[in-house]
Amino acid sequence: MALEKLGKALNNALRKLARSGTVDEATIKEVVRDIQRALLQADVNVKLVLQLTKTIQKRALEEEPPAGVSRKEHIIKIVYEELTKFLGTEAKPLEIKEKPTVLLTVGIQGSGKTTSVAKLARHLQKRGYKVGVVCSDTWRPGAYHQLRQLLDSYGIEVFGDPNEKDAVKLAREGVEHFREKGVDVIIVDSAGRHKEEKGLIEEMKQISEAIKPHEVILVIDGTIGQQAYNQALAFKEATPIGSIIVTKLDGSAKGGGALSAVAATGAPIKFIGVGERIDDLEPFDPKRFVSRLLGLGDIQGLLEKIEELQKQQEFKEEDVEKFLKGKFNLKDMYAQLEAMQKMGPLKQILQMIPGLGYSLPDEAIRVGEEKLKRYRVIMDSMTEEELEHPEIINYSRIKRIARGSGTSTSEVRELLNQYNQMKKMFKSMNKRKLAKMAKKFNL
Ligand code: GDP
Repeated sequence: MALEKLGKALNNALRKLARSGTVDEATIKEVVRDIQRALLQADVNVKLVLQLTKTIQKRALEEEPPAGVSRKEHIIKIVYEELTKFLGTEAKPLEIKEKPTVLLTVGIQGSGKTTSVAKLARHLQKRGYKVGVVCSDTWRPGAYHQLRQLLDSYGIEVFGDPNEKDAVKLAREGVEHFREKGVDVIIVDSAGRHKEEKGLIEEMKQISEAIKPHEVILVIDGTIGQQAYNQALAFKEATPIGSIIVTKLDGSAKGGGALSAVAATGAPIKFIGVGERIDDLEPFDPKRFVSRLLGLGDIQGLLEKIEELQKQQEFKEEDVEKFLKGKFNLKDMYAQLEAMQKMGPLKQILQMIPGLGYSLPDEAIRVGEEKLKRYRVIMDSMTEEELEHPEIINYSRIKRIARGSGTSTSEVRELLNQYNQMKKMFKSMNKRKLAKMAKKFNL
């Protein structure tokens, strides 16, 4: 969850409001003070905080709630609206209009740029685009290998040459290479070696002139807080076609400061990075973001994730047939687990359900997530035949799999037990029950 600490503090302020008997001026002022404190602790710029809270207070004191809406509800709505405005109001999604659409990413080393390029490539691939990635970082040979490591397994090609010293040439050749291949989107990753924005922006301009990207995307480290303002502004002044990815918003205490600072420059934030895994990239939508942050729940977000899952999972009629006939092998189970992994950590999903919000203790869900990861590791050590016909896995195979995956024989057995149980469950289900279940999950 992005900005967890800030979210909790804001949620507490709203709870205080909900618990209070009558809502008078003193209550409103106290809630506003709590919001102020929460934002300042998240490194939001003092001036911005004062402006925002002044508006909230003024509206809360002066506006009459419409019929059917309580004063409390109306104030929550005001807080939601003003915080949303604070972050840019409208979502500005990345548009892929032309084929190929060329994107250039820039950002200071360590900002999470390379990781974000990989995440973005995967994000677009999941939406059906064929993507090529060009590594034109000539200063850090590791960048090319890092990208390949992240993307090879998804079949996303990375163009690069760790020995080449001319970044502009690499970028141009890379774009040409993927143009010939007929991909839909080309993402060019540039160097982030520069200590200051000036050098970074100079190189961005040179590459930009050479490859004429449709969009330049700046990657900003969310942990730098309100300092992000100057970085975003310098970038925005250098290019009119910029958008921004703010990274590391999971766990960062200053993320609120970074987000609001970037929004204050008027540069659109299109994505946020919320973790180290390749799927930890979220399209940024201020409305949804704030409703989640305030713990108001986000059923819309949940529905979209489920939709995405269904697209990837392709859990079709044949699968149901397969289950019915009891032909459910480890590979099928693996696909299910993978789909769950793609949905993101269970915790994230559960947090999107209204009402659950912050009430869920970490321990209650950690087990499930960890277990899924272990299962994947174990299955990666199995042969094709074992995955397709788990019944052949005898004790000596169990020992080999445990050794290969660095797990224990009891863990491998536990996985097989889980598989057998699932298989049994599917076998015992009758057609009607399955059809009902399929309907429930909208399959
Ligand atoms: P670059 O030098 O800008 O290319 O940065 P990298 O992509 O190599 O990332 C630097 C570090 O930040 C790596 O350890 C990444 O795993 C980590 N990182 C990147 N994005 C995120 C994020 O959204 N959340 C977290 N927690 N870590 C991130």
